Formats: sequence, structure tokens, C-alpha cells
Amino acid sequence: MIKITLPDGSIRELEDGASPLDLALGISKSLAKAALFAKVNGQDWDLKRPFEGDSDVALITKKDEVEALELVRHDTAHILAQAVQDLYPGTQVTIGPAIENGFYYDFAREEPFSTEDFEAIEKRMREIVDANLPFEREVWDRDEAIAKFKEMGESFKAELIEDLPAGEPITIYRQGEWFDLCRGPHLPSTGKIGKAFKLMKVAGAYWRGDHRNAQLQRIYGTAWLDDKQLKAHLHRLEEAEKRDHRRLGKQMGLFHFQEEGPGSIFWHPNGWSLFQSLISYMRRRQENAGYVEINTPDLLDYSLWETSGHAEKFGENMYSTVMPDDRKYALKPMNCPGGVQVYNFGQRSYRELPLRMAEFGKVHRYEPSGALHGMMRVRHFTQDDAHIFCTPEQLQDECLKVVDLILDIYKDFGFDDVRIKFSDRPEARIGDDEVWDKSEAALKHALEATGLPYGYNPGEGAFYGPKLEFVLRDAIGRDWQCGTIQVDFNLPERFDVTFTGEDGADHRPVMLHRALFGSLERFTGILIEHYAGKLPFWLAPRQIVVATITSDADGYAEEVCQAMSDAGLRVETDLRNEKINYKVREHSVGKVPVIAVVGRKEAEEGAVALRFLGEEGRTQEVMSLADAIAQLGDKATPPDLKR
Ligand SMILES: [Zn+2]
Ligand SMILES: [Zn+2]
Repeated sequence: MIKITLPDGSIRELEDGASPLDLALGISKSLAKAALFAKVNGQDWDLKRPFEGDSDVALITKKDEVEALELVRHDTAHILAQAVQDLYPGTQVTIGPAIENGFYYDFAREEPFSTEDFEAIEKRMREIVDANLPFEREVWDRDEAIAKFKEMGESFKAELIEDLPAGEPITIYRQGEWFDLCRGPHLPSTGKIGKAFKLMKVAGAYWRGDHRNAQLQRIYGTAWLDDKQLKAHLHRLEEAEKRDHRRLGKQMGLFHFQEEGPGSIFWHPNGWSLFQSLISYMRRRQENAGYVEINTPDLLDYSLWETSGHAEKFGENMYSTVMPDDRKYALKPMNCPGGVQVYNFGQRSYRELPLRMAEFGKVHRYEPSGALHGMMRVRHFTQDDAHIFCTPEQLQDECLKVVDLILDIYKDFGFDDVRIKFSDRPEARIGDDEVWDKSEAALKHALEATGLPYGYNPGEGAFYGPKLEFVLRDAIGRDWQCGTIQVDFNLPERFDVTFTGEDGADHRPVMLHRALFGSLERFTGILIEHYAGKLPFWLAPRQIVVATITSDADGYAEEVCQAMSDAGLRVETDLRNEKINYKVREHSVGKVPVIAVVGRKEAEEGAVALRFLGEEGRTQEVMSLADAIAQLGDKATPPDLKR
């Protein structure tokens, strides 16, 4: 008999040779049906693989969505490989892992695959699912495995086995006639995978990611637990494409990119106006929350980065150069060392703490060109950074204040669904455990005070302190990590940061790094995609276009524009000799939220006809100019100034 301990601590006795499937059957028929695989002593385990002794066992079902998805995606990759080899004999298989939203498989084949092949491949995949072939695990002898794959002409697989560490069992998973080298686990049979998959694209890839190696063809697919999930994913992709900030940015005249400035943004007037609205907003919020604002150099002597530790940890991503004076300089990849210089200029007293120093600092980080993506991943960006210096006793209160501020700010931008991730001490770290205890407790307390559910990443804090990360869920369900709060014991040590305590002696303050938007450039991109370009009125770079019906209203249009502009609205005129419908359409594409239409009649009556873009149930409303200004002025007031 073997003893199985379940996650709830209960114990079951099973016959020798029993498997997780037997365990599930012993509990209930429905569980046996729902079970996908098991975790046996922390190791992934096929349902039908016999236990090898007393074990701690967890049965994984679809309810464990992350694990279930990964398994289904990996299984689907095997199905894809079989389908491809069935249809295109002579194609060699290499590797096929599960990835975010799906899987891929890399094939070696002379002729190129194209998306036109997908229909046939998917059809074959569905046939394999329908055949409900059992996945069977076999352990092979290493030399025999190598010989077998070589004989089959599968040189890549043979190479993979040769590279496996000696002593590691060579496991093969078989589905019908077809088999693959694989660590597993897999579902009991191909029928369990279901058909919620779709092939997405073909791309080039190199064997082992090295361009000196053989060129392979990578087929990407997406796979889900059911059709509903698949449909939702495809819909999200479609929506994401419509909302792409690069496309909308062009339509709205916000910014552009060009080859000479890879990963760098050329802001146009409309985009810069939006960027400045974000800065003004944040500046007001910070001022109200007791921050002071500083600004520090972009270019600093390299020695500062050696002291801070950035040169060692981050040097490869730093832009640096030696100038004719033989000094080495670097563009700042982070604002912290600069901020510390301002703190350290003169002796600080406990009376000055907590000292909250904010900086809209532009940081420069070399990212590989393949990683760049519009405004979401750039090489220069502006952080709404701040460093809070406080006593250990003040830490908890400061954390609470930052968390409150962050959540309140996200609400103002229409993000109500915020997730928080808490990462605590890693194995390799600096600082006393006592200080870690205090810092983690402070962050956790702040976290729990929000009442929001949070994710816990044990051991994933930085080596110098624990952190909170704030993830926004956007209108189409995508997650964006934006804000962070990080406790730091490292920099105060490295830069010998002190304050004079009540006792007249020097003490070390705690340093908190925090950013709320994170990168302003990226946050702008997220806002554009979240709102599909239809930004809230108070943020819209062009709030109103005054468009004339006929040229005899030109003078009045100018008057209207001036009056609105005097009231602080962002407004321009469109006096072109074009049909009014043409003008309205064009400004709608440019996402101007309000178009004030004026003709002879409006001029005579001192009125405007307002058209609201994308506001449900509101088409055209005629009102006096004074009423329009009052109404629009109210709409233009940023939410923090309305309270
Ligand atoms: Zn596999
Ligand atoms: Zn910092």
C-alpha cells in the first residue's frame, strides 16, 4: 500500500502501482473526469503514471486555469507537430513550447509554410483530436533514443537528447503512431484537448535562437480551454488592432517615430498637449500630497553609476561615452542617484522627514530593437518618479499614503480594475532580516488596507528591498503593469544617506522609490488604447473644433473660438471651404470630442450647435455660446479639481 497526502492534509491509502487517476476515481467519478494531470511531490505527473511511493498529491483540473492552459497549449503543440508531419513528410520537428496565449512549434523544412496551409493543418489537427489517441509515456534508453531519431532523419531531436544531462531519463510521449521527445506531462488522450485552437502566423526562427544555426519555420497557434475563451481572445486581438496607439496616434496627430530615432518619440503639438495634461495633473496631485519637485541632470559622471551599482547591474543597457576631457559620462537610466544628491546636499534633520521628492525624469535605456514597440517599449521615457526619505517608524504610514494616492489616481483615468502584486525577500539580498520584516510588514499593511485582492510573489523582491506592483486591466481585458512602490536599503548605504535624529546622532533613513504612471509615454499609449482614442474631454488635446457651414460665418466662428479659448478650452477653427459633413467626419476620425457647428443662423442668434463624438444618445444640441462655454468648461475640469 502507498500513502497519498492531499492538499487539505487528508490521507488516502492506495494499492501499489496506483496512479493519480485511481486516486481521483476513489474520490468521485466527476473528479476523475475533470482531472487533467497531477502534481506529485511538486512534480508534474501524468494521470495514468503510477505513483512511485508515498506522495503528496494535488489533482489539477480546469479550475487551476494557469496550469490547465499551459498543459492544453503544450498538448496542442504536439498535435500540430503530428499534423504537419502527416501532411508534409520530410519535415523535421524541433521544439514546441507553450507560450502566453498559445504555443508554437519550430519545423525544419525546405519549402516555406504559409498561412494558406493553415486550413489543411487545422483540419488534420481536429482529426487527431477526434481520434482520441491516448498519450503514452515511455522511458527510453539514451543511446537507443538517439539512434532511433537519427534513423528517422530527426537530427535536431537527436541533438537535443545528446545534450540532456546524463542521468536524466529520456521520456517519450506517444500519441498513436507519432511520438516526441518530451518531459511531459500530457493529458490522458488527444480527445481531452478539445478544439478551441487556431493557427495564427508563421515566422522565421533559428535553431536554438542562434543566427549561425539552421533557419527554421515557426508556426504560432493560440489554444484555450473552451470555444468561449478562444472567441474572447480572437475578439480581443481584433479590438487591440483597432485600438493600436500607433495607428490612432497618427489619426489624432499625436506623435511619430522614424528610423533615425529608434525607440524615441517625436511628439507633435496635439500629443505634447496630452503629455503636458498628464504632467499638470500629476503635479497637482503630488503637491496636494506633500511632495516637493526637483530636477536632476540627464548626463552624469559614470562614477556615480558605479557607486549606485547601476553600472554593474545595468551597464549593458546604459548609454555612456568618454568626452575630450577624458571623463566618462552616462545618460541616466534611473533618477534615483540624482535624487539622492539633492537629499545629500547639506545635513538633513529628522524635522524634515518624511521628505518626498518628486521628479519628472527622463531616463534612457538601451533596449534591443526587437523589443521596441511603439510607445509601450521605448529607449527614452519620462518617469513620474519620487523618492521618499523617512524614518523606519514613518514607513508604514508613507506606504499607506502612496497606495491611496495610486488607486485614487487610476480611478480618475477610468481604471477601476487594479490588481496588486506583492514581492518579498529573495534568497540573495542585503540588509538585516529585522529591517526586511519591518518593510514587508509596512507594504503588506498598506496592501491589506485597500481591501483589494492581491497576488503574492514570494522571493521576487529586489535584492535591496520588497515591492508592490500595480497592474491595470484595460477596457479589453489586457493587463498593464504601471505603478510600483519599492523599499530600498541599498542606496542609502551606498551613498551614505543620513539625517540628524532627535538625539543629535546620525541615522540612516529608509528610502522609498515610487512611480504611479510609471512611464508617462507608455501610460499615454495605454490611455489611447483603453479609450480607443476617445479620451475623456479633460484630456483631449483638441477638445473642440469650431466648423463653419458657410464662409459667411467665418467671423463668428473666430469669435466663438476666441471666447472658448479665453475660457481655457483647447479649441481651433475649421473654416475650409468643405461640406460640413466632410468636416465632421474628418474630425471624428481625429477623435475630437466636440464639434461646434456654426452657420449664418447661429451667428445671428449668438448660438452654437454642438455635436458630441461617441456620447450615447447625444447628437446635436443647439445652445447659446455662453451656455456652451459653461457646459464645456465644466466637462474640461480635471476630476481632481472638481472635488
Ligand atoms: Zn512535449
Ligand atoms: Zn528610484
